[in-house]
Amino acid sequence: MKERLIITVDGPAGVGKSSVSKALSKRSSCVYLDTGALYRAVALGVAESGISPDNREAVSKFCENIDITLRLANGEMKILAGGDDITGRLRTEKISILASTVSAIPAVRAALLPIQRKAALSGGVVAEGRDMGTVVFPDADVKFFIKADIHERAKRRYLQLKRRGVAADFEEIKSGIVVRDRQDMKRNVSPLRPAEDAYILDTTNMKMTEVVDKMIGVIREKTGAGI
Ligand code: C5P
Repeated sequence: MKERLIITVDGPAGVGKSSVSKALSKRSSCVYLDTGALYRAVALGVAESGISPDNREAVSKFCENIDITLRLANGEMKILAGGDDITGRLRTEKISILASTVSAIPAVRAALLPIQRKAALSGGVVAEGRDMGTVVFPDADVKFFIKADIHERAKRRYLQLKRRGVAADFEEIKSGIVVRDRQDMKRNVSPLRPAEDAYILDTTNMKMTEVVDKMIGVIREKTGAGI
């Protein structure tokens, strides 16, 4: 049995990747790697520097001196920019759209690639994002691509925000997801798509616990891991 599993979880916005990835990382004693947070951190930095996200040259230049570090422990991931913990500032709708825009810029993806790979050097990892199975960890032990219909995804995101006490508008969330999916699937670099060897899971009519159980079954079967 392999000791250090690399498990990838890709899929569109609002599908529940974070919840299932966190649960999987705990069950498999792996580190949880939320790569969307890295793109969000770049988006926040770009916004705070007064750079237009459409100015590809300026965003690329910004990435030359980027100082982002991760703290991974107990199934949680903290993200630091210039040494400051910015984790709590990344999950707004404005940053979601901005992250999707800057993530289409090759220099942004190139700057974040080594940070993501480094996170998997010290042990097993459950890596969540859009291009985990296709680009960042092409040799992963098990690759998942999770999908669900748009109404269900908007509902999940809406309820997640409500639970956190964040004011949320359902239609606004839904249209934000549609815009992001379109941008993420149509970009030239690392577009959102399943890896050829990914296990595709339609979770529209599944509870999160069922999704996690299903994924654990697949991991056991493919790797023999005793999780
Ligand atoms: O997953 P999350 O919603 O936090 O991701 C925010 C944005 O970051 C996505 O819409 C996508 O454009 C970008 N992203 C990406 N590649 C990843 C993870 C996220 O392009 N591996």
